[in-house]
This record gives sequence, structure tokens and C-alpha cells, in this order.
Amino acid sequence: MQRKFTREIKIGNVAIGGNNPIAIQSMCNFPTEDTEKNVEQILALEKAGCEIIRLTVPTLEAAKSFGEIKKRVHIPCVADIHFDYKMAIAAMENGADKIRINPGNIGGKEKLAEVVKVAKERNIPIRVGVNSGSLEKDLVAKYNGVTAEGLVESALDKVRMIEDEGYENIVISIKSSNVPMCVEAYERISEVSDYPLHVGITEAGTIYAGNIKSAVGLGILLHEGIGDTIRVSLTGDPLEEIKSAKAILRSLGIRKEGIEVISCPTCGRTKIDLIGLANQVEEMVKDYPLNIKVAVMGCAVNGPGEAKEADIGIAGGINEGLLIKKGEIVKKLPQSELLGALKAELDNWK
Ligand code: SF4
Repeated sequence: MQRKFTREIKIGNVAIGGNNPIAIQSMCNFPTEDTEKNVEQILALEKAGCEIIRLTVPTLEAAKSFGEIKKRVHIPCVADIHFDYKMAIAAMENGADKIRINPGNIGGKEKLAEVVKVAKERNIPIRVGVNSGSLEKDLVAKYNGVTAEGLVESALDKVRMIEDEGYENIVISIKSSNVPMCVEAYERISEVSDYPLHVGITEAGTIYAGNIKSAVGLGILLHEGIGDTIRVSLTGDPLEEIKSAKAILRSLGIRKEGIEVISCPTCGRTKIDLIGLANQVEEMVKDYPLNIKVAVMGCAVNGPGEAKEADIGIAGGINEGLLIKKGEIVKKLPQSELLGALKAELDNWK
């Protein structure tokens, strides 16, 4: 997997692009005016592995609260701005590490120039966001509907608007809920631009549907080396977005930290409540900083063999459980002791 070259830019204390790790983002879903709730949410997201957080800034009160929130969290905070250039400036004055705007709807060239001037003074990156839902009418007409070409042209037009103000500290995102269109748009833009790309499938849906769409779309792009920062957009708790983003990166071998749990699909040989056990194991291992694979298998016949790829595993036998290392049975014990035995092994893992 060869990463496409992009310029490095710094969002607060996190660098993206270049050879930097692909950063995981999410977005707060409380009104930004509510300082306490947002601080609490961001601290929980940080703990789960979120590396950049975005908050909407629709009012001056929100901009002020944004400044308070920023002081109490540890990851870079991005301000999401719609329409009002004053909010973009207020967010930057309150410590925004990046702003996300659509230069086409911020109130005209002069207002954009004012926003860029403040960004330039403070060296704050600007994310240019293009969304398939708001593609300009002339581009819809030119390309006979909303297309990947139209989205790319729209994004490049907007990038040029910022470049014309003499600023190149830019990140690009092109969002669509249509996976093939979104993938094609990112492929096209990565051919013609070396600005870092924030990738994600927008309005992907509920946790189930959104995870599948995001895994497919992001999976293709990341495998092609495209994407410097990602967001899995889900209609659900933002913590789920972080869990999913981490799982996508881990399943492609891009991130290695954290335990990967593999478990068999169960069959007629299953001798244990494997579904319950696999979920318990997944919950139990989520905070271990180990780069290993743990297998949870349903039977003693094929379990050890099928768990060969894992560093450690457990399997359910008849009236007993097995502890397995690299496919070899190392201990037999009552089923009720399996989880505890696995935990003890992980606690002492070397
Ligand atoms: S490990 Fe055993 S229980 Fe699980 S799918 Fe394979 S044969 Fe079935």
C-alpha cells in the first residue's frame, strides 16, 4: 500500500499529510454553546482514540464556548462554519486549530479575504469542504447531474479562491453519501492536487448501514493510499465513529496498536455461548495497548487450528475451555474460568 504524496500541514499539535499517521476525527453532537457537555464528550472521545475534533460554530456564544472548550481538552479543535464569515473569524480568535468553510458561501470575495487574512496571521489551516448535496447549479448542469467530475471541479474552484488570497495552508474534503461517486471524486482529486485529504462518506446512515458504507468507501481509498485524516460519519454516538475508524485502519494494517479480536462465525459444533463470550472479550481488551491478535473460538476440534494466526485465544470444549497460544493448547480449564485466564495472560503479556 503506497501512500499518495500530500503536503504536510499542522492542525494544532497534530500533523497530517506527508508521512504522518492517518488521523482519526469525529464531531461533537451537543450545541457548542454547552461548554460542559462538549468538554465531557471530547475527553471521552480522546480516551477512545479520537485525534482531531470538530465543533460547529453558528453563533458568537458558540465561538466563546469553543474557546473555553479548547482550553480544557487536549486534541486539536476544528471549527465548522456555515455562511457567516464573522463566525470563522470569531472561532479563530477563540483558538480554532483549523476552520472548515465553503469559500463559495461565506459572503463573497471580500469576506473570504478577511477570513483568509486572519487564518494567515495565525497560520490556521482551512479545510475546503464540498458536499454532493450542495453542488453548484452550473456544475450540475455542466455534468448532467451531480457527478465526481463536478465535485472535483467545485473543490478545485474553491481551493483557487483561497490560493488567490495568497494562502496554501489547505485541506480538502469532498463528501457524498454515494460510495462509488465519493471514491471516484477522491481518486480524481488526488491525481491533480497534493493538498492533504480529509476523507469520509457523508450522511452514511445509522450505525449498521453507516459502518458498512464507510468501511467500503474508506477501505478502497485507504488501500489506494488516499486519505490523510478520516471520519466515519454515523447517526449515533460519536464514540462509535472512533471505534469504527480504528477498526478500519487496523483491518488494513495501517494502524497496529490495540488488540484485534478474531472470532469464529459459530456452527453446529459450537460448544459455548460464543456470541456472548466474543462480545465480553472485545469489551475487556479494548484498552490494552498491545499489538496482538486474540482469538475466540467455538469448539475444541477446529478452534485451535483456526486460531493459529492469533497470538492467544480461547476455545470452548465439552464442559471445558481451552487456552491456546499460536494454535497450541496450553491449558484446559473450566469454561467459567476462560475469561479470567485470558485476562491474566494479557495483564502479564511480554
Ligand atoms: S471453530 Fe469450531 S465452532 Fe467455530 S466455526 Fe470453526 S468448527 Fe465451528
